[in-house]
Amino acid sequence: TDKPCHIEVQPIIDSTNSELMRRIQSKDAALTSGQVLVAEMQQAGRGRRGRQWQSPFGANLYYSYYWHFEDGMQAAMGVSVAVGLAVHDALSALYDLGVQLKWPNDIYINEHKLAGVLVELDGQMEGPCHLVIGIGLNVAMPNSAAQHIDQAWTDLSQHVSEIDKNQLAVVLTLCLQKRLHMYQKNGLSDMVAQWNALNAFRDQVVSLSTGQRQWRGICEGIDHQGGLILRQDGERKTYYGGEISLRKE
Ligand code: ATP
Repeated sequence: TDKPCHIEVQPIIDSTNSELMRRIQSKDAALTSGQVLVAEMQQAGRGRRGRQWQSPFGANLYYSYYWHFEDGMQAAMGVSVAVGLAVHDALSALYDLGVQLKWPNDIYINEHKLAGVLVELDGQMEGPCHLVIGIGLNVAMPNSAAQHIDQAWTDLSQHVSEIDKNQLAVVLTLCLQKRLHMYQKNGLSDMVAQWNALNAFRDQVVSLSTGQRQWRGICEGIDHQGGLILRQDGERKTYYGGEISLRKE
């Protein structure tokens, strides 16, 4: 029942997410749900809050998926969680890796960042909205770019030897289709336990910051809306929102 998987590849682009956002804004009629854009290199790869995603030419995957989402922005908050699981599904289908997830949007191996997810939205709180799901996944990082990454990172080449990037992009697309379909139908309900089992910070003391404010607590996992549950002085509190950063203490 899977739709054929069409993947557009461009050699150089500013950012695959930016390009799909431009096509949304210009109401490009050729843009339909499930469209994938991959680039060999990004000149302005982005993380959250204006941070850079190192995107040198070479083997790494710079990937964006367009999805016309029926349920409005409020429900789109949980998408990062479903996407993290899809990246995990794809990697586990192909390789034997101990992949873990960091709320809300990163994929780790042994406390080293392997991939980042950047979900961007265009639309209103109510009614259908447009989603661009960006995934940057390190396959083989050239040294020249590695020196610009200011946190612990890893790439697939450090863990597995035979990597077919085209196969990875196809399997990732199929896994995303599956998880997004699941999310559209039932929300996160079937995914919460799976996500929590892969939580890189499970039962650890973490700090959560919005830039202005900071909270400390023990990381219990996520709730059904994709919010992060912290235990603080015996009480449970849930935090939402894309602008929050989680750190291990
Ligand atoms: P948050 O917890 O708020 O998501 P983050 O530091 O993980 O914080 P992101 O926006 O997800 O932020 O990603 C950008 C950050 O990731 C950069 O500031 C840099 O530290 C790191 N980074 C940049 N490029 C890469 C890369 N190719 N691989 C791994 N890490 C990278």
